Amino acid sequence: MEKILLTERNSVEATLAAKSRWQHSLRTAVRSGIELCRRLDLPPEAVSPSAEKDFPVFVPEEYLQRIRPGDLTDPLLRQVLPAPDETLPGGQLDPVGDLQVQRTAGMLQKYAGRALVITTGACAIHCRYCFRRHFPYSQVAVGPATWAHWMDQLQADPSIDEVILSGGDPLSLVDGQLQRLLAAIDAVPTVRRIRIHTRFPVVIPSRVTEELIELLRASRAAVYCVLHVNHGQEIDDAVRAAIVGIRRSGAVLLNQSVLLRGVNDDVEVLASLNRELVDMGVLPYYLHQLDPVRGALHFEVGDDRAREIWNELVRQLPGYAVPRLVREVPGEPSKTPL
Ligand SMILES: *Cc1c(COP(=O)(O)O)cnc(C)c1O
Ligand code: SF4
Repeated sequence: MEKILLTERNSVEATLAAKSRWQHSLRTAVRSGIELCRRLDLPPEAVSPSAEKDFPVFVPEEYLQRIRPGDLTDPLLRQVLPAPDETLPGGQLDPVGDLQVQRTAGMLQKYAGRALVITTGACAIHCRYCFRRHFPYSQVAVGPATWAHWMDQLQADPSIDEVILSGGDPLSLVDGQLQRLLAAIDAVPTVRRIRIHTRFPVVIPSRVTEELIELLRASRAAVYCVLHVNHGQEIDDAVRAAIVGIRRSGAVLLNQSVLLRGVNDDVEVLASLNRELVDMGVLPYYLHQLDPVRGALHFEVGDDRAREIWNELVRQLPGYAVPRLVREVPGEPSKTPL
C-alpha cells in the first residue's frame, strides 16, 4: 500500500516537474552579456554594453547548450550576442509599421481576413534581429484585460476568419491563460483558424507539455503552428520530440526563417535546414528578408544574393521544401515576394 502511494506521489511530482520545467528555464536564463561570455569562453569585448542596454540578453540553458563555446562565428551565438556591430547607425524603431495598424490595443490588422494579437511581450529568447525589439509592449497594454476588446472586434467583423497569436511569444502564457484565450477566440464562430507564431518548441522544447498538446487538440478552429527556426544546429532530439508532440495535436506545422548574414546566408545551410524540417512534417513557409530595425543592419543580406540563394534552393529541393522569399513592405496588402 505504502509502495503504491509512493509511486503515485512520484508520478504526480513528475507531472508537476514536466509542467514547470519550461518556467524554470525562463527563470534561470542567462540575462547578461558578461555571463554569456563567461559560459561560452568568449572575451568580454565580444559584447557591446550599449547594445545590451538597448535590448537585453536572454538565452535559456537549453539553447546555450547548442552553441559551440569559444566560437564567435557560431550561427546560434550570432542570433543572441549583443555585438558591437549593433551600434552602427541606421535602421528604424518600427520598421514594419506595426503601430500604424492597431484596431484596438494589442490587435493589429494589415491583411485581409487576418488579425494579429500581441499576446505578451515575453519571449523564450531574445533574437538580436527581432523587428519588434523596440516595440513598446508596456504602452500597447497586452494581457487578459484587453482580450474582451479583441473579442468585440472579432464579433463585429466577420471578415476576420483567422487570428494570429503573436507577441512576444504566445506560448509564454501558462496553459490556463492560453486555454482561456483560445476558448474565447474559439467561441467566435466566424473565426476558422487560429495561428500560433512561436519559437518555444525550438528554444525551450519542454514547453510542449501534454497539457499544451491537449489544449491545441481541443480547439474547434483549425490550429496552425508557425515555428521559427533559422539553422539546422537549432534542432536537437528534444526539439524533434516537441515537434512530434505538436503534430499529435493535429495542428498544421509551418516554419519561417529570417535570412541572416553570418547565420544562414548559405545554400547548404538552408537546404539542409529545410530538408530536415520536411522530414519532420514541418512545411517551410517564409524566408524573410531582414526588416531594417535599428541595431540589426549587420545581419542584412542584399536582394541579389538572397535571390541567388533562393534560386539554388529551388534547384536542389522538392517544391514543398522551398520557403517563399519575401519582405515586409509597410502599407502593402501582403508580404512582398522578391
Ligand atoms: C505577417 C503578418 C501577418 C501574416 O501574414 P501571412 O502572409 O498570412 O503569413 C498577419 N498580420 C500581420 C500584422 C503581419 O505582420
Ligand atoms: S522570439 Fe520572436 S518576438 Fe521574440 S525576440 Fe525572437 S524574433 Fe522577436
